[in-house]
This record gives sequence, C-alpha cells and structure tokens, in this order.
Amino acid sequence: MDHSESQSIMQLLNLLHAFLSRNKCAACYRQFNRKEHLVEHMRISYHSVHEPMCGICGKRCRSFESLRDHLIGPLPKAECERVFRDRGCTFCLNILSSPHALRFHQDRCQLSRGNNGVLHRFANLGIHDDLRIDSGKTKAVALACKMVGGGSDGSIDLCARICIIDEYENILFHSYVKPQLPVTNYRYESTGIRPEYLRDAMPLRHVQRKIQDFLCNGEPIWKIRPRAGKARILVGHGLDHDMKCLELEYPLVKIRDTAKYPPLMKTSKLSNSLKYLTKSYLGYDIQNGIQDPYDDCVATMRLYRRMRYQAHRIEDYPLATDSQNKNNFASWRQGELERMSPDELLAISRSDYYCWCLDGKDVA
Ligand SMILES: [Zn+2]
Ligand SMILES: [Zn+2]
Ligand SMILES: [Zn+2]
Ligand SMILES: [Zn+2]
Repeated sequence: MDHSESQSIMQLLNLLHAFLSRNKCAACYRQFNRKEHLVEHMRISYHSVHEPMCGICGKRCRSFESLRDHLIGPLPKAECERVFRDRGCTFCLNILSSPHALRFHQDRCQLSRGNNGVLHRFANLGIHDDLRIDSGKTKAVALACKMVGGGSDGSIDLCARICIIDEYENILFHSYVKPQLPVTNYRYESTGIRPEYLRDAMPLRHVQRKIQDFLCNGEPIWKIRPRAGKARILVGHGLDHDMKCLELEYPLVKIRDTAKYPPLMKTSKLSNSLKYLTKSYLGYDIQNGIQDPYDDCVATMRLYRRMRYQAHRIEDYPLATDSQNKNNFASWRQGELERMSPDELLAISRSDYYCWCLDGKDVA
C-alpha cells in the first residue's frame, strides 16, 4: 500500500467516524447506523437532564446503579474508573475536585444511624403522638411499619408498629398497633414485639383514620393535586404494602417511594431493598436484629432528601406527561426530527418519571 492509498483510507475512516457520531445519542452515547434509528431510540428512551450522569464523561444513565456499573462495575469505562478511584464519592457517585476535597466531602456524605432512635427504644410501651393538622412547614413525612404474622401459618402481614417522622427526623408518631386479626407469629427476632405490647395498643382503625387525616392535612382527598395544596408528601419504601396493611388510601401524586423511584432501582428495573440502598447510598447498616420502624423512616427520608437536592436544570414543561410533551416527540414530524443534531434531540426529550428534584423547586 503506498502513501496516497493509506492516506485515502484514513480519510475514509475519518468520514465514517464523523458520519457515525452524527447518529450518536447525546445522552447515553449509543451509536446508530442511521439517523432514523437514533430518532427511534430517542422516542423510547425518555432521556433527560434528570438522569444520573457520570461526572467525568457526561454519559447519562437510567439509574444510579447503572452509573455505578459504569464507574466501578465489572466492566467500567477505563478513564472514568481511573478518575473516580481518585476523587469519586462511592456513596453519591459525585466527582470532587481533588482527593482532599473527596475526604472532606465523604465525612459528611457518609451518614451513621444516629442516636435519636435509642431514646424511644427505651420507652417501649409509650405512644408518641404528635400528629397535628396544621398549615405549618412540614411538607414531607416518612412512614414505616413493622409487621407481625396472622393466619394459621403466620404468613399474613399485620401492621403492629408504626412510625412517622418529619423531614428533620423528629418523631411525629410512634406506636404499637392492635391488629384486627389474631396474631399467630410475633416474629420476635426481627420485631421485638411481645403479646403484652399489643394488648392495649391503639386499634388499627383508629391509627388508620388518624394517619389519613394527618396526611391530607385538611384537604379533601379528591381535591389533592400533584403540586401546591396542603396535603403532605408521603415518603417510604414499598408503601403499597404498608398502605394495604393499614387500609390507607392516598393519591399516587403525593407518594415518594424509594422502592419505585427509577434512579434508585436496579438496572433490571426491580426494586432494591431499603437495607441495600441505605448501605450503598448513605453508608451505614440498618435492619440487623430487632428492627425499629424509626430507622426505616430515617433511611427513606434521607434518601428522599438526597434525591430532592439533586442539582438538575429545570426545563419548561419538565414531564413527559405534561400535555406539552404528550408522547415524547409526538408533536414533531419524522423529517424534522431526522434533521436535528443529537444535542437538539436531547434538548427536546423529557423524562417519563417525576424527578424528586422538582419537589425542591417551584415549578408551576
Ligand atoms: Zn440514548
Ligand atoms: Zn431532577
Ligand atoms: Zn463516564
Ligand atoms: Zn458523596
């Protein structure tokens, strides 16, 4: 091969490269052979500024879990992994400016269980009840339950203990609950609950009504809107189950469930356990031995607050479900989309889930 031949091959390769990156997704960096395939990918991907992003190469990931894979998984991206090892926080996955800044950051990013829980663990039989209807500042509350077993084999979950805290981890309500069915298994090793604790406890009906009123906070349930209004945001992990056991109804638009928030879910789209999330994202252990619902409340509230304080750019009409973006890209003609650059396509793409950072901002 002479010089001019190899030169023209190089030119060809350059052209090919330029051609291919024209069809490279600006969010996840996937390459497509044809523009129409990129457009198709964008239609179904719902990429957005709310997706977890690699602080080094800027790649956007569906979840923190896939970002973790990208940075420190079995097959990480080599150059991102190198930087991350040096100054990346293993809890929030952010990149700091120097190893020194990382140490300083991690001292605050890694949390410990805290002592608050100890106080009320001594007051085993006491009821802490501070559920008041008010127009005060508490906007979000976390709820967690512990279940005992009912039915002949003890497999029916019955709520026997419940805790509610505010955003600052203060206990608003902490009580044993007397289930409506006979308890056949107290599950003592994990609940620490003895029959005498439940004998004179608050009946389930009573607890259910109290919590319902507290959450709605004076707003009729049918009037509750996604934003504004007095009704509270309810934070928890696997709230479907808790609410079923409590026979509680609450509108989905006010629920922030760490088991169902896409950035906190597995790459397989299954839920992570609260134990795992707390260990990985907050850096401490929960649910060892006898469990107190207070610890679950604190963990979910901390996760919620971390997600709420994510620094994302706010767009007009941030949601795919906003009528302005019904069916991502539907208002654009195929030809118009195919003429757009990958960056332009990303700029008009919207998330298909509600990012909790929007709770921290005043989006109308
Ligand atoms: Zn993509
Ligand atoms: Zn966001
Ligand atoms: Zn990267
Ligand atoms: Zn961190």
